[in-house]
Amino acid sequence: MSDDLTSIKGIGSRRAAALQRHGIKDINAFMHYYPRTYLDRSEIKTIGQLIVNETVTVLGTVYRIDVRPSKKGKILKVLLKDNTGFITLNWFRAVKWLQSAFEVGELVSVSGKVTFFNGLTMSHPDFDILADDKETFNTGRILPVYPLTQALREAGFNSRLFRRLFSEIYSTSQIILDEIIPEEVLENQHLFSYHQAVKTIHLPESAEKLLQAEYRLKFQEFFLFQILIAIKKKWIKKKTNRFQIKSAGNYIFDLYANLPFELTDAQKKVVHEIYDDLKSDKTMNRLLQGDVGSGKTIVAALTASIMAANGFQTAIMAPTEILAEQHDQNFKELFKPLGVNSQLLIGKQSKKQKEQVITMLKDGDISIVIGTHALIQDQVEFNNLGLIVIDEQHRFGVDQRGELMGKGLNPHMLAMTATPIPRTLSISLYGDMDVSIIDALPEGRKSIITKKIFPEKLDSVYDFMRKEVQAGRQCYIVYPLISESQKIDLQAAEEGYKILSGTVFSDMKVALLHSKTPKKDKDVIMEAFKKAEIDILVSTTVIEVGVNVPNATVMLIENAERFGLTQLHQLRGRVGRGSEKSYCIFVARQKTELGLLRLRILEKTGDGFIISEEDLKMRGPGDYFSSRQHGETGFMMADIVNDGPILKKARSAAFNLIHEDEQLLKKENHALKKYFMKHFKDKMHYAGIS
Ligand code: ADP
Ligand code: MG
Repeated sequence: MSDDLTSIKGIGSRRAAALQRHGIKDINAFMHYYPRTYLDRSEIKTIGQLIVNETVTVLGTVYRIDVRPSKKGKILKVLLKDNTGFITLNWFRAVKWLQSAFEVGELVSVSGKVTFFNGLTMSHPDFDILADDKETFNTGRILPVYPLTQALREAGFNSRLFRRLFSEIYSTSQIILDEIIPEEVLENQHLFSYHQAVKTIHLPESAEKLLQAEYRLKFQEFFLFQILIAIKKKWIKKKTNRFQIKSAGNYIFDLYANLPFELTDAQKKVVHEIYDDLKSDKTMNRLLQGDVGSGKTIVAALTASIMAANGFQTAIMAPTEILAEQHDQNFKELFKPLGVNSQLLIGKQSKKQKEQVITMLKDGDISIVIGTHALIQDQVEFNNLGLIVIDEQHRFGVDQRGELMGKGLNPHMLAMTATPIPRTLSISLYGDMDVSIIDALPEGRKSIITKKIFPEKLDSVYDFMRKEVQAGRQCYIVYPLISESQKIDLQAAEEGYKILSGTVFSDMKVALLHSKTPKKDKDVIMEAFKKAEIDILVSTTVIEVGVNVPNATVMLIENAERFGLTQLHQLRGRVGRGSEKSYCIFVARQKTELGLLRLRILEKTGDGFIISEEDLKMRGPGDYFSSRQHGETGFMMADIVNDGPILKKARSAAFNLIHEDEQLLKKENHALKKYFMKHFKDKMHYAGIS
């Protein structure tokens, strides 16, 4: 069989084109178009059993197809029947092509939420035409249901067709997918062969075999990814330290002496870990995890001071301009007295300013540069870049980290993150880094009193805020991004600002800050807030990251149920930074059970690790990555949240393999090498694999 899609019986040029538009270019890719779910006889309800508001799958035959006019166009109504009753399926969109997708008398399965309107109804259910699968289905077969887009449907694809195509492929062709995982690993882990696994995914013989097939494919995804990580880790460990230091130099002591506080034990421990790295003959590649407010910045500053004393430059990259500017101020205060030159480089500076900084960097007149991704522009060259610090590391894509690294000759890397990453995730994403944890907050921090309230209580909260302001403190009021559209985001904050500054807080200094505030004004406002010239700062989430105003004691978050837990935790971390008692108040406007449950978790704990674990359970891993990072993991089957045990096994198998055969030279690892050379050629130079 050729690799051409059209050589599959049932795929002509039109269908092949539709598949190709989905990135399915050849038969091999087609084999990896996995089912979205499976229909299992035992999980299906009869129409007579349905309860309103339940989300279920039902099976029935099409009894009648109607198209009716409606206010906005047309409605497609499909009446579905089984032995126990009728249900009406409604579609308000794509009526024309959906209408042609159904035929009276056909057996279909539909899944969706049951509603009641003149009888049982479902709107826009997922559906799957079973038709001639009736026989196989009734004999208890598990039926794969494939993901479909409108374009695929228009080209005649439905799950039934996919099922037919796959039986066709497996019964007539000699396609055997080449095994990638070495024999020994297959045996030790009791895994299906690749061929058997993919075949079972499309044509499952039993629930048990299906599970085994899924297990094998998940294992493979993790295994391949962990091999990359193992290779990278080996490579990094081998990189000789070009910026090796003999001593910490004098700056660190001066810096330390000038600090208005004593370092926590956790901070000291981390500084020692870093210092040991810098002295060793290997390049540092370290992830610093520490909850909001745990004091990561000063650790970065102390590290930079060691580098500066040894004549090396440090670049600090922050995810937002506000944060970069804040670090810049902070660093100037710390380093000016020592005579160490620290400068800012961000997009909004004038061309002249930027050019000046760039020239000084190149000439080595700047020891520390702080910026946003402006630091990775092509024109930026360093004289002797020895250390890269990435603040709020989870906000950056892996590529961006790489680009900055490319600007030096194997500089040290210190990545900091305030979102404590659950273990399973950190293993899989940052498995190539050493990890330091700041596990205690500075002493004297009082825990932040957290309360969720309903809008009825707002007046008393406003009273409370007045009292705080009268006592000399400051407050934040944060509004969520209500939709993707920035306009609405502004609206909520703007309206809130207008009302509050015109009424309850009319005698106080209230300011508004949002993503569209001109940069100049933004600076003025932030500066004024820092100097306590503003009492109440109304804003959108622009203040989320890292802003530090210790005198602020109240954080009021509107529509809190719209935020992710981790984001709420970060916002909460804006207060409680000074010695005064601080408060975080969530205003819940929608009383959904899940929303309230989430807020309750925050009321109960201030531990970022617990919160991020919970968040992960509830929302999935998407929020932890920039979309780019998410794509990079490239897992189709595996689920980082729920497949932790498989990940662990795959990781240890992968690390063993690389430990024994770093360059994949052994015969039994040949297929693996071929796979990596095909898909990750650019990354293979790490290991000297070619
Ligand atoms: P994060 O870890 O969230 O980046 P920061 O580095 O911004 O936290 O520190 C938060 C605040 O705590 C800053 O005002 C900082 O000066 C202060 N801080 C840092 N370390 C200590 C310490 N050991 N004792 C008291 N305050 C500290
Ligand atoms: Mg920080």
